[in-house]
Amino acid sequence: MKSKETCPLAQHKELSAFSLVNEAIRSIKTRENSKINAIWLEATGCSGNIISLLNATNPDVTFFLREMVNLTYNNSIMAEEGESAFEQFLRTLETEFILLVDGAVALKNNGNYNIVAKYKDKDITALEAVKMAGERAKYVLAVGTCASSGGISAARPNPSECTNLSNVLKREVINLPGCPCNPAWVIGTVAYIITKGKPEVDSSNRPILFYGVTIHDRCPRRSFFNKGIFAKNLGEETCMFKLGCRGPITRTDCPTMKWNGGVNWPIGDNTPCIGCANFAFPDGMEPFVKY
Ligand code: SF4
Repeated sequence: MKSKETCPLAQHKELSAFSLVNEAIRSIKTRENSKINAIWLEATGCSGNIISLLNATNPDVTFFLREMVNLTYNNSIMAEEGESAFEQFLRTLETEFILLVDGAVALKNNGNYNIVAKYKDKDITALEAVKMAGERAKYVLAVGTCASSGGISAARPNPSECTNLSNVLKREVINLPGCPCNPAWVIGTVAYIITKGKPEVDSSNRPILFYGVTIHDRCPRRSFFNKGIFAKNLGEETCMFKLGCRGPITRTDCPTMKWNGGVNWPIGDNTPCIGCANFAFPDGMEPFVKY
């Protein structure tokens, strides 16, 4: 695929996103800013966002954990378990910390569809844990589409009555949608918070750094779209609009950031964008392969 057509606005936003995040990472490397405590709660979801984080490159997850945050609680990667793990969670609430939540929040039966811990013989629901930490955190980040807008966890028929983080907390939540969330969006946002504070967000509270431009605006197949040359079958290397591509209504920097350390991305692999970072995903994006 040689064709490339990118609008000047997209190029400008792309450059400023890279330079701002790189500046933040540089400042952390030179120790101008100190690490901040962080809790990463996994609520109702597939844990795909923490797995995605482990794929981070430049900086990688080791840099994230050693230099940027003191991750006191995350049930997938912390060493402690049981009550002592939850005590770490409770101790962190008395400090300055940021909260990252992965997954939607189940509301049915007072949240009993998702128990995240047991402490002094009491079941702690994700709903309870999110409220405890969310009310005290300096910043709250919804990592992934389920936490940002309900996502697959809240898709029809939603038996556990899942909802997004903003519906549970009476405070501002920075949304980082994506199924999963690209690790660069998480680490970039946290880097920005550590060095400069809250990043500029759009009307859906997504950092403009990463969600400011549609995929369509910087898609390497855009010239085919402009000329009306559309793929009829999956595998054809032209515009996949008529195969259901949701790039025109999905705002992320996937065309430039790509995935797995920049190896590839869905459209680069002849797969239409399914709009996983769109707030209407998945119900509003279906069927995935149809104009
Ligand atoms: S419709 Fe999809 S494949 Fe076509 S230019 Fe837009 S984002 Fe690219």
